[in-house]
Amino acid sequence: MVKGDNSSNDPPMNWNYIGNAAAVALLRSHVAHGSLRQAYLFSGPSGVGRRTLALRFAQAVNCLNPPQAGEFCGVCRACHLLAEMRHPDLEIVAAEQRGGILRVEQIRELQHRLSLSPYEGRYRIALILRFEEANLNAQNALLKTLEEPPPKVILLITVEDSENLLPTIVSRCEVVRLRPLAAEALAQTLIEKQAAEAPLAAQVARLAGGRAGIALRLLHHPEERQRQFQVIEDHLRLLGSSYLDRFATAERYARELNKAEITLLLDAWLAFWRDVTLYAHQDRQHLTYPDFQDAVAAIVAKIGEERSLQALRQIHQMRQVLQGNVNLRLALEVLFLNLPNLSLPQSATQSALEEAQTP
Ligand SMILES: [Zn+2]
Repeated sequence: MVKGDNSSNDPPMNWNYIGNAAAVALLRSHVAHGSLRQAYLFSGPSGVGRRTLALRFAQAVNCLNPPQAGEFCGVCRACHLLAEMRHPDLEIVAAEQRGGILRVEQIRELQHRLSLSPYEGRYRIALILRFEEANLNAQNALLKTLEEPPPKVILLITVEDSENLLPTIVSRCEVVRLRPLAAEALAQTLIEKQAAEAPLAAQVARLAGGRAGIALRLLHHPEERQRQFQVIEDHLRLLGSSYLDRFATAERYARELNKAEITLLLDAWLAFWRDVTLYAHQDRQHLTYPDFQDAVAAIVAKIGEERSLQALRQIHQMRQVLQGNVNLRLALEVLFLNLPNLSLPQSATQSALEEAQTP
């Protein structure tokens, strides 16, 4: 749990949740007024804090000692066990691995368990994670539960984009849309609530693209920050490599990484190419990777804004194609062949490397 400022006895602001206050207010009012829906769909980009908010909501629903209507205490047995995802009335369903498939058998098993009455909570909570990974059979199976919901059950479903689900599922859920925060606002919160140093807070907020969940992970795990820089260094190396090497890299990525991991790579590359286009517009204030400014400047000087925008678009397109059924290796090959050929001066990538390694 995020540590909040709990010096007084007042309930924690915004459920100790960073940002998306309107979403928290809506959920809090449902609990306070006893107007709980059968199912909630938490939609938003991965890392924005969908699961965290779903769990806070579950705490508010099942807290044994709420300080006031719609709040949770954070210290009772129910609050503890829910925060640690081991409450006996919490059922968690997800694809076995990120980027895998959520199968129909998993939904059927869930349905069986949900038919039992709660052990100790007021409500049995089903937390279904990354529902975009559910295949059509699994979606159809869940639809049955939504049509004939068992009593005293609340379904909390997290999903990247509700548009990719069966509309009949979406229409039976209260959709809670979560958005990334402005990087400046997120950085400010990290300074206030996490006692982060200002430059580090600004850096992780930018790297996370305003997604609070990712920002917290980067803040507390320096090795994750290092990995982000490594991703950009690898990308710069790719831009300087021959077509033969690019084919080999596409083959290796397709073999070693799954869709979800490739999506994370693409997100980092998108942020980098956005930096290039910002830089072309003389904007040095909002760069995600200021440590790579030399490389960015060299790219702008070499290929200009138009060609940089094109690269940005191509990566964006690949990210969209990836959501569908696609031959990963082929898609990567096409992208890599289209990206500009840029052997950057050694100094541009090397100084970035050295800076990135400074803690
Ligand atoms: Zn509690």
